[in-house]
Amino acid sequence: MKHKEIQQSKLLKNKPCSRCGEGTMMAQHKQADGKSRFYCGKCHLTVWE
Ligand SMILES: [Zn+2]
Repeated sequence: MKHKEIQQSKLLKNKPCSRCGEGTMMAQHKQADGKSRFYCGKCHLTVWE
């Protein structure tokens, strides 16, 4: 059985844009409340996680 144990911080580092596809990485902005905001400079998509 293969477990995928990836640190959340690692996952967050390279988040591709769901609109532009795998080739476009979103910029991560750490919020004061601990949440992360991801912004795509290409299509201006913003998501919070
Ligand atoms: Zn995008």
